[in-house]
Amino acid sequence: MANPSMAKKRSPENISKNLKELYKAIPEVLDPSSKERRCIICGRRKPYEKEDVYRSIFPLLGTGGMLNFFPAANLHGGDICAHCLFLVQLMPVVAYNLSKVLVIHAYPYEKMLKLCEESFSRAKEEFLLSKDNDFEYNLDFKKAENFFFKKIIDITRKVETGSKFWKDISITLYYFINGNKSGSQDIDIIHIPNSVLRFIAFAGEVDIKGWKNIVKRGWGTSKKKSFEELEKKYSNEVYQRLLNDENILEFFYDKQEKKVNCKWNLLKFYCLEVLKLEEKVLSFIKEVGDRIVETIEKLEDNKLKQVVRELENSTKLYQFENFFVRVEKIRQQKGIPNPLLTFEEFARLLTSYGEDINMSWKVVKNLLLFRIYEKLHDRLSSSSELEEDSFEYEGG
Ligand SMILES: [Zn+2]
Repeated sequence: MANPSMAKKRSPENISKNLKELYKAIPEVLDPSSKERRCIICGRRKPYEKEDVYRSIFPLLGTGGMLNFFPAANLHGGDICAHCLFLVQLMPVVAYNLSKVLVIHAYPYEKMLKLCEESFSRAKEEFLLSKDNDFEYNLDFKKAENFFFKKIIDITRKVETGSKFWKDISITLYYFINGNKSGSQDIDIIHIPNSVLRFIAFAGEVDIKGWKNIVKRGWGTSKKKSFEELEKKYSNEVYQRLLNDENILEFFYDKQEKKVNCKWNLLKFYCLEVLKLEEKVLSFIKEVGDRIVETIEKLEDNKLKQVVRELENSTKLYQFENFFVRVEKIRQQKGIPNPLLTFEEFARLLTSYGEDINMSWKVVKNLLLFRIYEKLHDRLSSSSELEEDSFEYEGG
């Protein structure tokens, strides 16, 4: 209703008048048994007929230039009711102006209010400050998920309940362009899995520095820009994998520098909540990691590095098995009383987790490496000529 077609007639008074008329035109909800035409959005009311419903008043529709563009072959545009049209006129107030338009839809709605707070107060400011209430401000983010995850952490750090704020909430991002030229419309619909949402909130709450280390690796090591710059411009592999239900364990540590990127606590939350590992399985793997550390720390530096490299480089199951045999031999040579693993444990570790993407032996390998780097970082990185971490974390 405040669209370019209004041109010179566009004033707060006219917009308000249009909205009131539209509001008054909202019809009763149809009886479920009624055979009348229905709104394609809510399915509950008769479509609005006083005006053609094209892209200028409802986003992502056709322009009206092509008559059969609309699903119901209605010459007057989309079959949309006054109720849905009215609501969509208010959408700019809660939308974020990134490279495209971002609408964050959340349920329950009280959480949605929190997510839209910034955009809403910005809209109020614009209204108070400027003569024409265009939404001029641009948040300068290209990727919707980068902006969204930053927002999740910002909110988590402000609300009293912390990361628990995001329990039982469902969120979908709609990221679109409602261009006027043909072909300039598109939309990405991004569902945010609740486990991922809670994990990122938890990360921001308990180990923000560690989390930034992990995310930064998702931009690759070649980019020497600050976290904030990267966040605004580039797609991030860690975020992508989380959204695609793919494993991010290898981002928790840095193989080159032989160090972990975060605290065990954060890794644990990820394993239990996102990968859905059982707690007893995780503590078992951690314990095996500690037994390996107890064994290989008895080696001199060069040997120690060599053994760890063997684990790092094992890309096949048999290589991974060989690593355990090797460690067992070291145990015997060094006279450590108990075996590394009983036969039953060995079998459990290598086979019974199956080849499920989230719970294969590779998960075990990643967790063991994390534990080894955590405990033996100083010795593993000693006398190596690696550069220190090449970036600083601003604002962490
Ligand atoms: Zn409707």
